[in-house]
Amino acid sequence: MTISRFISELNGITWIEKISLLSFALSKKKEEILIRPNETVTEEKFKFIKTIFEERKNGRPLAYIINSKEFFSEEFFVNESVLIPRPETEILVEEAINIIKDMKGQPNIMDVGTGSGIIGIMIAKHTGINVLCLDISREALRVASKNSERIGVKGKTFFVCSDLLEAIKEKGNFHVIVANLPYVKTKEWEHLMKDVRDYEPKLALLGGEDGLDLYRRLIRVLERVICEKGWFLCEVGGAEQAEVVSEMLIQKGFNVSKIKDYSGTERIIKAQWINSL
Ligand code: GLN
Repeated sequence: MTISRFISELNGITWIEKISLLSFALSKKKEEILIRPNETVTEEKFKFIKTIFEERKNGRPLAYIINSKEFFSEEFFVNESVLIPRPETEILVEEAINIIKDMKGQPNIMDVGTGSGIIGIMIAKHTGINVLCLDISREALRVASKNSERIGVKGKTFFVCSDLLEAIKEKGNFHVIVANLPYVKTKEWEHLMKDVRDYEPKLALLGGEDGLDLYRRLIRVLERVICEKGWFLCEVGGAEQAEVVSEMLIQKGFNVSKIKDYSGTERIIKAQWINSL
């Protein structure tokens, strides 16, 4: 069976996904698949490719099948223990990098709920500053640690198992704290895409009735770890949540601004602790 016959005969998924799956199964670059469409594949490979095509057709996200997702121009390892990186989160990373680049000395940086590690790892990579990454899930931390090695920031990222800030016992002195915590509302769950609902970790998505249970808990204890004029940046699900989170932060003495994502949705909260209350 040639590659081109494969592509035309197996239906039900997009062409671009077929190329990605073939590239994964045959351990070849996508370009190679495209320029040599008449190459034949062995019976054994054929069976494997059929299996993963079927998995994709049944809804398993491509990123989990090929254990890879691009984020900030890097290939990250992902599996079902972590959320698949979303492009919107790149805005959070960019904002954090810009803030850190303007800082003098060696600021203390923390990524709460790191998941696959994308935020903390990209900050470490682009600023050269150490980042402490926390997550409640040990499986997620294993993925994040693997990614830090893959991206080449192993010595600059530190992974600790912690329910929000619980592992940090003493008063902290963090200059920048970033978080992409679960923020999906309980009621929204059933309306999520089947691929998300059936495969992505609930623990990383669900944030209670209004989606803000974890942000509420985190913001309550932020002042213990953030330093004067320190920054808190986080991702939320839209205008309504952006408003509620902003209000919580203003109450705590933060100056707040909201940033929209590529589709015009209010997505990122950028807050500086002025503590002038
Ligand atoms: N943006 C994700 C989604 O809608 C949710 C991410 C999160 O809860 N932090 O699926």
